[in-house]
Amino acid sequence: DTGTIAFLGLGHMGGPMAANLIKAGHRVVGFDPVPAAVEAAKEHGVPMVASAEEAVNGANVVLTMLPSGKHVLDAYRGVDGAPGLLSVAAPDTLFLDCSTINVDEAREAAAIALEAGHRSVDAPVSGGVVGAEAGTLTFMVGALPEDFETVKPILELMGRRIVHCGDHGAGQAAKVCNNMILGVSMIAVSEAFVLGEKLGLTHQALFDVASNASGQCWALTTNCPVPGPVPASPANRDYQPGFAGALMAKDLRLAVNALESTGVDGKMGHLASQIYDTFAAEGGAGRDFSGIITDIRDKSGA
Ligand code: NAD
Repeated sequence: DTGTIAFLGLGHMGGPMAANLIKAGHRVVGFDPVPAAVEAAKEHGVPMVASAEEAVNGANVVLTMLPSGKHVLDAYRGVDGAPGLLSVAAPDTLFLDCSTINVDEAREAAAIALEAGHRSVDAPVSGGVVGAEAGTLTFMVGALPEDFETVKPILELMGRRIVHCGDHGAGQAAKVCNNMILGVSMIAVSEAFVLGEKLGLTHQALFDVASNASGQCWALTTNCPVPGPVPASPANRDYQPGFAGALMAKDLRLAVNALESTGVDGKMGHLASQIYDTFAAEGGAGRDFSGIITDIRDKSGA
């Protein structure tokens, strides 16, 4: 029995995820410090309380969907006079973090949770707000086998694919590796389209060749950065996200952190991170990350 879930962080992702748990009949108690998030959650029938401590009291599972690893570790340990949730929770509570955070931070979160007599699972998601609303997220899970069995039925209420990637931190590791491929490949596809333009090649001709050849990848065939070849891609709606540039920049900073902490010679990952930091800082934060092609084109002369 997974009993009551304390759900902390009901923002763009957490709000609809909690709503899906409620819809499935699960007991959920929510907390978020931002009034707008509280109101939105209440509208979806999620009971909200005034403090994280209150939410955790009586919960068997503490699910966090927070902006960063610092938020997660601060909540676990306590900060600014607030008690740490690890000390408030009943023994053997399962701490389930679905935020996207550094692999090192996820391992640290697991270590301190275990030390405090609890269980810990990292389960970052892909699929965005659309997937959160539709309950079709992919969860990448780092957990001990018995803890994976505990969280799987909960995650299935919010997602479609639940992948057990390994021990503590493995979910974050899978997410950061995948998104590094995505960031690098989107830049490569975008550079190729701009080069094709300069060489007098139509978008459709390059698409028809590359999508059936060795250049084939998701950035090309699903999220194609030029309008036309893939009608549903954000390029066809002036780069409305989709997957926002700010989130790609965040995920690539996590990739750089992982490259550095492991000593991997990841030149492309570092470069992709710089490129997306600049994109986000220069107006791309709220645009789809495939809008990087307009930056490349602008910087390539007339
Ligand atoms: P968000 O900023 O909309 O939501 C985060 C919420 O956490 C906010 O409402 C904030 O008030 C709340 N919060 C902060 N500190 C808290 C605390 N101590 N206790 C309780 N609540 C607290 O962010 P989001 O877009 O929902 O993303 C959440 C996480 O999911 C991030 O780690 C993000 O990288 C990841 N993610 C987001 C997307 C996406 O498309 N938005 C996709 C995949 C993964």
